[in-house]
Amino acid sequence: MTGHCKATILGGSGGWRRISCSKKATKDSYCGTHHPDAVKRREAKAKAEMKEWHEKYARLDFDKRAGDKCRELGIQPEEIK
Ligand SMILES: [Zn+2]
Repeated sequence: MTGHCKATILGGSGGWRRISCSKKATKDSYCGTHHPDAVKRREAKAKAEMKEWHEKYARLDFDKRAGDKCRELGIQPEEIK
């Protein structure tokens, strides 16, 4: 496999222009970073992290609201855990 990666990335002065990736192509005319499989893996990872974050946030929010409701009703949140 010869040649350069065919992916385009943001670059140039100020990073606002699309330039071609200057890395050497290692597989299917893409470098290791821009190969569709690698991109897909990164996206899946980012998605999983986002989902985890959402779940964590929903749980924190639920705990907070449950705690507020308990205090409103005069119950100690610890009592119903
Ligand atoms: Zn590349």
